[in-house]
Amino acid sequence: MKAAVVRAFGKPLVIEDRPDPEPGPGQVRVRVEASGLCHTDIHAAQGDWPVKPNPPFVPGHEGVGVVEKLGDGVTHLSLGQRVAVPWLGKACGRCEHCLSGWETLCEQQINTGYGCDGGYAEKMLAWADYAQPVPDGVSAIEAAPLTCAGVTTYKALKVAGVRPAQLVAISGVGGLGHLAVQYAKIAGATVAAIDVTDEKLELATALGADLVIDARKDDVGEVLKRHGGAHAAIALAVNEAAFAAVNSGLRRGGKLVMVALPAHGTIQVPIFDTVLNGTSVIGSIVGTRQDLAEVFQLHAAGRTKVISETRPLDSVNESIADVLRGDVKARIVFDLLGTGR
Ligand code: NAD
Ligand code: ZN
Ligand code: ZN
Repeated sequence: MKAAVVRAFGKPLVIEDRPDPEPGPGQVRVRVEASGLCHTDIHAAQGDWPVKPNPPFVPGHEGVGVVEKLGDGVTHLSLGQRVAVPWLGKACGRCEHCLSGWETLCEQQINTGYGCDGGYAEKMLAWADYAQPVPDGVSAIEAAPLTCAGVTTYKALKVAGVRPAQLVAISGVGGLGHLAVQYAKIAGATVAAIDVTDEKLELATALGADLVIDARKDDVGEVLKRHGGAHAAIALAVNEAAFAAVNSGLRRGGKLVMVALPAHGTIQVPIFDTVLNGTSVIGSIVGTRQDLAEVFQLHAAGRTKVISETRPLDSVNESIADVLRGDVKARIVFDLLGTGR
């Protein structure tokens, strides 16, 4: 089977032919149909973060495909069933976090495409309990971006406690942001979308944003304040300055939800303003299996649109370069079957 492999940080990925992986107990082998390119995969391939994967590894945590082999003990998935294999590849199921609905914080978790091989391949392994069944009627190409970009932003809006009549700022309308805009609208909020390209700002408007802010020329904090300030700001742009900009546009009691993970990222949080204004800074990491089930359910009900362009896996290095330049439709999805569906 073919896989795109990170052999060394910061070097082009190499397309390799590898033996089909064999599922161990509790695992399944998935024939991957579609696999999304999340910006996290670029951070992984560049070794951007303090906790690093170990090359060689296969990135990708938006892999969707059909189960083609069951490991010992797997009874609840069947051959031919379509599943998604998200970032939360496996958690312990026993710790305080797992037991309290916060499996995404489990310290024993294994992350797909980071701590084990991921979805940039024709075949991959998944732990059956953490592979998410994809509802009938949702194609693999659509399910792929929902598997990380969807669940992550859906969760970030839950964490922010967004309610109708609130103003929500979505900073960065890329893979994550284009879905964040839609979940914020579903929550009933007024949405301000922020980006630095005309295409992304137009896309945000098409997806229902009430107001767009061009961070190349507008003072983001000032524009948000003119509208009363944001109740919540979801930071999705891979840019430290963008975090500080939306933070300055919060209203009193507002929440900054940090989601993007720029390399070595830090921001200065002014103590006086934070205390006097009662604002919060919250980190949010992907979402649980239940969150992903809800994301799929919303999509199956026709309430979200996934904007993507499909490409062959062989284009992985150009595709990464295009994402870094901001020169793609919201998400690139590798089409492993070559059917575009
Ligand atoms: P992306 O490259 O598709 O989108 C980023 C968007 O930000 C682009 O539209 C870009 O034009 C825009 N942007 C760039 N500079 C900006 C600025 N100054 N102001 C406003 N917008 C700006 O990336 P993505 O796949 O959506 O991922 C975004 C980030 O989220 C990455 O750092 C990724 O690692 C991280 N991520 C975090 C989680 C999590 O669980 N916390 C999950 C998935 C991804
Ligand atoms: Zn746990
Ligand atoms: Zn991701």
